[in-house]
Amino acid sequence: MSDRIILVSACLLGVATNYKGKHHPAWETLFRRLVPAAKSAGIGFVPICPEQLGGLPTPRPPSELQGNAESVLDGRACVLTIDGADVTKQFVAGAEAVGHIARTLGAVGAILSERSPSCGVHQMYDGSFDGKLIAGNGLSTFVLSRLGIPTVSHRNLIEAWNRETDPECVHLLGRELGW
Ligand code: SF4
Repeated sequence: MSDRIILVSACLLGVATNYKGKHHPAWETLFRRLVPAAKSAGIGFVPICPEQLGGLPTPRPPSELQGNAESVLDGRACVLTIDGADVTKQFVAGAEAVGHIARTLGAVGAILSERSPSCGVHQMYDGSFDGKLIAGNGLSTFVLSRLGIPTVSHRNLIEAWNRETDPECVHLLGRELGW
């Protein structure tokens, strides 16, 4: 039984959930050391994929927010696929499902995949499908922040590990989540 639950983007745990039907390339770097260390510290990881939870298929066309997360959740902006299909309903349903899981399990943090329209923590694509990045949260990240649940991007975690000479994984994770 875990004392502390952390939600993790499922693709970062090696599950083939991303829009191409693949896992995230960083997953082994991140979790090979972290999973055993977290287990012995009483931390349990729960995989979530908001886009699958919202009912989208895998693989699926890439999508981008056409506004910031708050405006999408408030119904003032939409989410479009690269083909122009409106997938706002599925993205919002997925983000709400993540919020529900977090509340129900009493999650104390989340490790999320940067730049995703659902899971991005600091950056996302600007909606033009031209590869341009802007500052902003993905929809699920925004929902978790509104619930007061701290989030860390996989990039920040890897950067923090690389800065330390002898990093103690769980301590570092806690520090990045502001515990
Ligand atoms: Fe990974 Fe999140 Fe995209 Fe699902 S929605 S594939 S968990 S980044």
